Amino acid sequence: MPKTAIYPGSFDPVTYGHIDLIGRAAKIFDKVIVAVAHNYHKKPLFTTPERLKMLKDATRGMKGVTVESFDGLVIEYARTKKVNVLIRGLRMISDFEYEFQMALTNRRLANDIETVFLMPSENYAFLSSTLIKEAAALGADISQFVPKFVEKPLKERLRR
Ligand code: ADP
Repeated sequence: MPKTAIYPGSFDPVTYGHIDLIGRAAKIFDKVIVAVAHNYHKKPLFTTPERLKMLKDATRGMKGVTVESFDGLVIEYARTKKVNVLIRGLRMISDFEYEFQMALTNRRLANDIETVFLMPSENYAFLSSTLIKEAAALGADISQFVPKFVEKPLKERLRR
């Protein structure tokens, strides 16, 4: 049986940090499903189709990696896909509390599903979509944080 993992998130937008993590996950698992959360509680800057498209561009050529969107609980989505591993990223200690809480809540809800944490390259350990949006809104050069096909729409969206 090929081993599959789901990497869920809002990816609003995808950054080099996410891409680094997807590459690491793809080395461990036969298949990685990058899953864009549609019902994201914070109002996303990019629509689900836009976030999907950027992730597809970002993962083109990565073996075993597919991109999908999902609605509702990630554990329910994992069950429908018959996948029992979730990938999440840990950047700083500050991620730990939230991620720990979420992993344990998910485990209570679905004891058969495990969360696996991966750490990005230290080059990306400080990157977050939120900070990049803020920096871009203030006119910073964000080319070292996101690919070109993210940078352009991000600047355009924030100009409005
Ligand atoms: P969410 O709203 O679900 O936290 P994000 O897109 O912000 O969605 O993040 C998805 C996952 O990717 C989270 O586990 C987050 O910690 C991780 N992540 C985000 N940015 C990075 C990064 N630069 N390096 C490693 N992991 C990251």
